[in-house]
Amino acid sequence: MNFPSPHARVLPHQIPLGKPPESRGTEEAKQLNCIQGSLLGLAVGDALGASVEFRPHQYLVVHPVKKMQSGGTWGLKAGQWTDDTSMALCLASSLLTMKTFDPYNQMVRYKWWYKHGFLSATGHCFDIGSTTRQSLDLFCHRQKELMKVLSLRNENDVDKLSIIDVKSRQPTFDVNCSKPGKAGNGALMRLAPVPLFYFRNPPLAVEYSGASARVTHGDKKAVDACRYYGALIVAAIRGEPFENLTNKSFYTEHKDWFGSDDLHEEVLRIAAGSYQKNDGYDKGIRGKGYVIDALEAALWAFWKYKGSFKDGVLAAINLGDDTDTTAAIYGQLAGAYYGADNIPADWVDKLYAKELIRDIGSWLHYEGDSFMLENNQPKESSHQQVHSTDKHPNNHNASESMSTVMTSSQFPNSDSHNTTYPTYDPSIQQQAPKQSNTPLNISEHSNDPSLSNPSSTNSQNLHNNPKSNSDQIGKSEWG
Ligand SMILES: [Mg+2]
Repeated sequence: MNFPSPHARVLPHQIPLGKPPESRGTEEAKQLNCIQGSLLGLAVGDALGASVEFRPHQYLVVHPVKKMQSGGTWGLKAGQWTDDTSMALCLASSLLTMKTFDPYNQMVRYKWWYKHGFLSATGHCFDIGSTTRQSLDLFCHRQKELMKVLSLRNENDVDKLSIIDVKSRQPTFDVNCSKPGKAGNGALMRLAPVPLFYFRNPPLAVEYSGASARVTHGDKKAVDACRYYGALIVAAIRGEPFENLTNKSFYTEHKDWFGSDDLHEEVLRIAAGSYQKNDGYDKGIRGKGYVIDALEAALWAFWKYKGSFKDGVLAAINLGDDTDTTAAIYGQLAGAYYGADNIPADWVDKLYAKELIRDIGSWLHYEGDSFMLENNQPKESSHQQVHSTDKHPNNHNASESMSTVMTSSQFPNSDSHNTTYPTYDPSIQQQAPKQSNTPLNISEHSNDPSLSNPSSTNSQNLHNNPKSNSDQIGKSEWG
């Protein structure tokens, strides 16, 4: 299984990824359906929302989205998706190519999307968020410095390195390229491949969910939103029922998945059920670019529209504003919970490059299992909070496969690490707190809508977008 070179300009629907060996057993087939559901859910939500991206709620009250349609800010065809799906597929392609979590390679692939349109639905990067772009620009700068240090003349040569190569030859290289205080939804929108690859080891999945954010979005709120949401996706894949996923005590009941690093208080507020408001928009639920708003909005749609992927994703979109991303975040969890079979077939039929997305799901399932076997990883955690009265639509129970226990001391986190995770440089783990704990106050608050007016800092971030209307302010500010 190979992805094409970014210079080959192969469009996603032209990539012949092929399929891994067939999964055996009912349980495996159910997991695969959930994994494909999460990726398809992300892409379907993205594509549905793209036609009205940046439209306010008031517009969508009058003109609600009900189907896959063309148009919107980017003039896409019905079924084409945006940066959310492109970046998620870049992340998936890194996991599948490197067969491990390699944040350096992830940034290389995001750069390929940014510079060469790698895994874009149009062949071009047309909608990069400002935070992501700033982080990738800094990454490019650091790569150029690295080329000088290593006497490399060709960018392809520096792109081929792994994080282990880089850290062994230049120990001070920092792959986390976010400026302080970056708390947009741009990492949460692309998260799914990490929990889909590592769901068999929940503490590892949660840790890497956070690490996947830090490369571009270093604020603790963005990192912890990904850790919490990654845990929910893991729980959904493992067959936990809806009542568990929306339980206000999910975090405390799964605390052993999170290690010693507590969630940020704003994420804790959401985990404690802040999103459980029947009158969503009227009670302050917003589909905005601030990661706390985005997480709350996606969970509101999941909770409020229990039993229907279709109703939930449309509700997420019809909140307005960052419609595609709210829906893409919703779709990651809802797709994992409901499974690919429960996403409306006519939407999946219209989805651009749906076969590639399905195949990537199959390979994440296959290679994630291989990773656990090859690295002698425990597949289970000590968590035992799965209820036997499983109301999951796929009706499988995570407790069926729990046989070994992983203690928190075995897991590498910001306080400790061990070398049983052979292909991931532990120094990255140690660096991570520096990003989230650096003096954030000034710039973090400048990114916090409760403390400032986000619209005041937008204009400098629009030049890279093909269109430059005021609708793009939301994406520019937070993405
Ligand atoms: Mg988008």
